[in-house]
Amino acid sequence: MGSDHPKEACGLFGVYAPDEEVAHLTFFGLYALQHRGQESAGMAVSDGTNILVFRELGLVSQVFSERSLASLQGHLCIGHTRYSTTGSTTWENAQPTFKTAGRGGLALGHNGNLVNTGELAAEVGERGPATTDSDLVSTLLARRMVDASLEEAALHVLPRLSGAFSFVMLDERTLYGARDPHGLRPLGIGRLPGGGWVLASETAALDVVGATYVREVEPGELVGIDDRGLRSMRFAEAPRPALCLFEFVYLGRADSRMYGRSLHEARREMGRQLAREAPVEADMVVPVPDTATSAAQGYAEVSGIPYGDGLMKNRYIGRTFIEPTPALRQRGVKLKLNPLPDAVRGRRLVVVDDSIVRGTTTRQIVQVLRETGAVEVHLRITSPPVRWPCFYGIDMSTRGELVAAGREVDEVRDFVGADSLAYLSLGALVATTQAPKGAFCRACFDGEYPIPVGEREPSKFALETG
Ligand code: SF4
Repeated sequence: MGSDHPKEACGLFGVYAPDEEVAHLTFFGLYALQHRGQESAGMAVSDGTNILVFRELGLVSQVFSERSLASLQGHLCIGHTRYSTTGSTTWENAQPTFKTAGRGGLALGHNGNLVNTGELAAEVGERGPATTDSDLVSTLLARRMVDASLEEAALHVLPRLSGAFSFVMLDERTLYGARDPHGLRPLGIGRLPGGGWVLASETAALDVVGATYVREVEPGELVGIDDRGLRSMRFAEAPRPALCLFEFVYLGRADSRMYGRSLHEARREMGRQLAREAPVEADMVVPVPDTATSAAQGYAEVSGIPYGDGLMKNRYIGRTFIEPTPALRQRGVKLKLNPLPDAVRGRRLVVVDDSIVRGTTTRQIVQVLRETGAVEVHLRITSPPVRWPCFYGIDMSTRGELVAAGREVDEVRDFVGADSLAYLSLGALVATTQAPKGAFCRACFDGEYPIPVGEREPSKFALETG
């Protein structure tokens, strides 16, 4: 089933804590980051001498057991949840990647997408079965580590990468975190009560393990954490921050904070603004669960129209490897969202959602609500039309798949079958974040890419050989 939400890009977690069960902490951190990637999960742990890697296709709770966690002993660990934006869903592409390097090894987890992979791949030449840009970076680092430490290798390799990247990495003794010079993908630093350090894509993962938020890994910064504490190195100048605006709209958890702002509060404000920009007469405001819940509350608050649940989400469906049968797929959206007939029947609905990417699921939702007895369906979207592809790690990389590319709002409304359709303006959206206007990548909305992507649209499978 297609989805109208952009796909998540990956969750990262890292911990350095000599007195803690680091694999268990990483498990709970990854569990909190499950929404960022549901294809595979893994971790790499080191006891100062050996690195052990465990990774598998599936959800965090499917991949790890008490037994596997008990075998992952050490005092530093990195973890990863994956949604593929380069390469296929295969075991080889699960992360963390591991390479033997110099006299030891290195493990790496990546969130993002590089845009100069062709150039890097040509330099690397023959490689193993993995087909991701993350594997490419690991290979470059490992080659450099023949006569250098991971830190020296990183300071040499990272400046040559172009695109979006947050990394967690480790060798036998040191945990590292790095962010690309624009900081497109998030990565924060936290402190455990016992003095240990944590790295995580979102603050919600720090909360879960009891860590206190310290600060972001800065764009263009490499941090190293070992028995001497945390040290900061700069591998590139940071021209301007460009955090992905979609983190606020959809990707991040509502209970996370970015740029110091609660995503729940920002989304609620998006709903309020949308009610001011695009009012409509209706009987009930219905969120498309779960991300639009905060915004629908805001819309109801300003419009005075009662808020109500009209769709129930099956939270446990995940991205399973069991494809629905063709007959089941035809029932489409009901696998994920089921309408509540008593709430919907005979009512004029304002349906609030965070984004429309391909339009197919939105169309199914409208259809299902009508079939259930809704008399009017007015769509209100808390972001502007997505008209440009993303090359930085969110799975919408061609214009052809975007329903709003080359279509006016009225045409999209007709495509999805709604009575009315309105999007939140870009200015209002950015204002809800309370961060400066220039602090974001907004390329999928306005076509202004912070990092040049060249003439050609990169493909998800650009590195595949067969
Ligand atoms: S193009 Fe859109 S989805 Fe991609 S990084 Fe920029 S804001 Fe995020």
